[in-house]
Amino acid sequence: LLRDEIKRLIDQSRRDILGDLARLVNIQSGTTNPAGVNRVIDWCQEALEPLGVVGQRKPQKNFGAHLVARSRPAKGARILVIGHADTVFGPDEPRRTFASREAKCFGPGVFDMKAGLICLIHGLKALLRIKGRLDNQLTVIINADEEVGSPSSRPFIETEAKKADLGLIMEPALGRWRVVTSRGGSARYGLTVRGRAAHVCRRQKGVSAVHELAHKILALEQLTDLERETLVTVGLVNGGVARNMVPPLAHATIDLRFRTNEDGADLRRRIEEVARTSFLPGARTRLRGGSGRPPMISTPATQELFAFLKNLAAQNGWRLRQGHNSGVGDANFTSRAGLPTVDGLGPHGNHAHSEREFIYTESLFERCRFIGQILAADLGPLSAKLRDEARRPGKGRSDF
Ligand SMILES: [Zn+2]
Repeated sequence: LLRDEIKRLIDQSRRDILGDLARLVNIQSGTTNPAGVNRVIDWCQEALEPLGVVGQRKPQKNFGAHLVARSRPAKGARILVIGHADTVFGPDEPRRTFASREAKCFGPGVFDMKAGLICLIHGLKALLRIKGRLDNQLTVIINADEEVGSPSSRPFIETEAKKADLGLIMEPALGRWRVVTSRGGSARYGLTVRGRAAHVCRRQKGVSAVHELAHKILALEQLTDLERETLVTVGLVNGGVARNMVPPLAHATIDLRFRTNEDGADLRRRIEEVARTSFLPGARTRLRGGSGRPPMISTPATQELFAFLKNLAAQNGWRLRQGHNSGVGDANFTSRAGLPTVDGLGPHGNHAHSEREFIYTESLFERCRFIGQILAADLGPLSAKLRDEARRPGKGRSDF
């Protein structure tokens, strides 16, 4: 059976897989370090090319280049696989390197999400060594700016999502066998308050922008509703010029998180209302931004895809489960473009975006096998079904 052969091959390749993961983790690739990100993209491109997935680089001004690579046309399903090459770690981060001990792997970006990239490459490699060809048509995007919201890769993701039948995202798993079928949405704003400067002794002549902003911060934070998973956070604040001056200017950033399109639209209205309201006469406020990521909603088509994967996993005795991730990712974009998407196909681990980040080594090998099986599967009938589902008009899509 194919799955047994994939297992045998992956088991034989454990050293190679760990070696490749170490190589990738040891390239520092924070989003703000395009040279490092490009080295990760180079490595992936060189690994994918011999597997028949041939890439086009999309150079960017402020980021590393994105890779959009394709396999030869085939009759099966059109699969879009997405992973990101960047990590959250800045160039000032103390240099840490890959380490493997006690059934875990450590290192910057190991969990989010270099191990996911490795699973794609080694899963595909095993499948091709056994079958010699790919019956499904694969498009791979490896982007360079996911950790800052994919501002420059979003158009490529949306274009490819519209051409595909199903989306697989290699972000970290939620649990050993728990993938992601829905994600929260997010948006961000900048709020600038202008008052009027005056000497502190002539207080009545001035309008304090800091005072006005303080009122607004309280009003904004009150929009948070933990039960609904509606979160409003004022994260960065600055303002004022000198201790003895009524501050003429103050600025804040606002981060929004929400579970549904309706909640997002509602939140947006309330934030605009707070921005419009002047607590102090003479204070003027400007609200900018509002862009972000729409929520990834689990649709009937998502559930069809999940059920298929669950069935496939069960053939190995793995009980695949699904869950919601309140964080955003590129699945938010593919799902809004109408592409049935399952995310969290990377290995299981913990502590993303921190120095304690790790993956369970066994999970790395399991996910390599699983990806190989998915890419090898006869996805034709499923993709026909998904196409029908996807053509139905979605409700309440909003613009974030
Ligand atoms: Zn990630």
